Amino acid sequence: MAEIRLDKIRHSYEDRPAAEADFALKMVDLTWKDGGAYALLGPSGCGKSTLLNIISGLLSPTEGDVRFDGRSVTDLAPDQRNIAQVFQFPVVYDTMTVYQNLAFPLRNRGMDRSRIDELVRETAQRLDLTGVLDRRAAGLTADNKQKISLARGLVRSDVNVIMFDEPLTVIDPHLKWQLRSQLKKLHQRYNFTMIYVTHDQTEALTFADQIVVMHEGEVVQVGTSEELFERPEHTFVGHFIGSPGMNLFPCTVGDDGVRVDGMPIALDAPPAPGQVNGTSQLGVRPEFIRFDTGGLAVELTDVADIGRYRIVDAILGRHPFKIFCPEGVEIPSDNAKVRFDPRHANVYVDGWRVEARSR
Ligand code: ATP
Repeated sequence: MAEIRLDKIRHSYEDRPAAEADFALKMVDLTWKDGGAYALLGPSGCGKSTLLNIISGLLSPTEGDVRFDGRSVTDLAPDQRNIAQVFQFPVVYDTMTVYQNLAFPLRNRGMDRSRIDELVRETAQRLDLTGVLDRRAAGLTADNKQKISLARGLVRSDVNVIMFDEPLTVIDPHLKWQLRSQLKKLHQRYNFTMIYVTHDQTEALTFADQIVVMHEGEVVQVGTSEELFERPEHTFVGHFIGSPGMNLFPCTVGDDGVRVDGMPIALDAPPAPGQVNGTSQLGVRPEFIRFDTGGLAVELTDVADIGRYRIVDAILGRHPFKIFCPEGVEIPSDNAKVRFDPRHANVYVDGWRVEARSR
């Protein structure tokens, strides 16, 4: 398969875009490595489909270049890009058998019969479809039909990338995880480049090695699930990944350090005042706050018992926030004090994380 490079892509659906707001994709500069399993994650309207259509060639970007293995494909039509796509709704020929469905893309390429037979059987085996090869696609369940869509991509050796656009939407919930883990295993074994579009963080986190998070037409972070959790580069990532999301407090950054409502907050790498030019916030996830008698005085207002842990509602100064409290940890009945983990509390300026320049 191929490495895919999106070189300074911008896209507007307007004829004469002028302002930043006219662009559905503001600036995407990204490399998808050959053999990588990527999820493209973001809420409805953030630009996922626009980006996917630019890769597949259905849309020509207003600015920038798309390259497969270093070769520009920006001016190539979709059918010249050799991309396999699996959509929300399975695309199968209902009147054909499963075998014929898989053989179809190969016959179109004029391959000889015995080679087609070999490839179809091998692909069917990879996806547990051998038992239904002679059945008509019409009678199959949605998950089997979706496997056929995938198999039609895998059967071709000339495919540069397989793109999945919310492929589990019509699959029964109890089969979703099965299909997802099967996909993950296939990837581990055959290493094809995959881009999996979803607005569901669980789906993205369980499937992908690297998650590309989009927000309002921009890629705000690319990282592993741990990186997105432990070090969100943008407040949107802090809020979108995790449940509940990251707490945010308005803060000041001065020569005397970082403060929330005048209270000093210890951080491992506090930015210098000169680095902060905009609206500053302190971000810390509920999981990185613990009760500590030497910490900041807070008021506790509610406790929700979720089973193996509790979520405590609290107020620091004038600001409500949440604390994750694992089983076995006692919640103080009065004079509660908390400490933010200095390694996992970050300052954000206009949404973006800022840390001390190397000292
Ligand atoms: P969803 O998950 O709902 O499909 P998405 O993340 O894929 O959303 P896009 O469909 O790429 O987002 O839309 C990004 C922005 O571009 C949105 O503001 C949308 O309204 C706009 N947009 C998308 N398609 C068109 C179009 N054909 N013409 C004009 N604007 C469009």
